[in-house]
Amino acid sequence: MAVASIAVTALLAVLCGVIGLCVGSFLNVVIHRVPLRQSVVRPRSHCPSCGTQIAERDNVPVVSWLLLHGRCRACGERIPVRYPLVEVACAALFAAAAVRLGPSWALPAFCVFFASLLAIAVIDLDHFIIPNRIIYPTLFVTAPLLLLAAALTGNWTSLWHAVVGGVLGFGALFVVHFISPRGMGFGDVRLAGVIGMMLGWLSLGHVALALFLGFLLASVVGIGLLVTRVRGRKDAVPFGPFMALGAVVAVLWGQAILDAYGRTRG
Ligand SMILES: [Zn+2]
Repeated sequence: MAVASIAVTALLAVLCGVIGLCVGSFLNVVIHRVPLRQSVVRPRSHCPSCGTQIAERDNVPVVSWLLLHGRCRACGERIPVRYPLVEVACAALFAAAAVRLGPSWALPAFCVFFASLLAIAVIDLDHFIIPNRIIYPTLFVTAPLLLLAAALTGNWTSLWHAVVGGVLGFGALFVVHFISPRGMGFGDVRLAGVIGMMLGWLSLGHVALALFLGFLLASVVGIGLLVTRVRGRKDAVPFGPFMALGAVVAVLWGQAILDAYGRTRG
């Protein structure tokens, strides 16, 4: 890679990282309010403990949490470390997407995709649901962004693969859901459709890899939890976080994994 192009990508990664911090701050609101069926816009953020509205200066991602030593300024109640962690994770995901895709028209769609996956993973861990109020907005934002990227670059092949990938992802998990409705909720099926579409933009191999990684991670962790008796056989383990993680890995390192796999097969 030429020095100039490395510089552009580095700058883009920093920019995306900063945007990711702010988006992560919004994701904390989404993660807290969507399962409670509350508006994510109004009212403004307030302390869940004492109800005091959070001032602008105390609403700076990560920094405020550190300056306030993880406590509410008004009542001193602890603010869970998860809040800054979500912000840092979102920043890292955005920066990684920038490094992986470079200055690409598809980058905004992948940043939105990553933000949604992060929110979905945390909500599914907490509540065992994948809310339609996240899935549908994600689809209605990412699909037009991919369409725009295709129109601006003339890359209609990727768009076609995205459509096929979405149908394949949805279809594959719909079959699993049909066989085992208790093991696989319909939220997982919808999520697989979105994952299939986004990974399809990269290639159909990426779609297969993402779903495979999701099942693999879920199996390894599921068996681990059984063996260590953290969870019994009857306890549910949410599938969304594993699908989300599989999708992120497939976006960031899928090409390398697929290339390596291709070489072993000669
Ligand atoms: Zn408070």
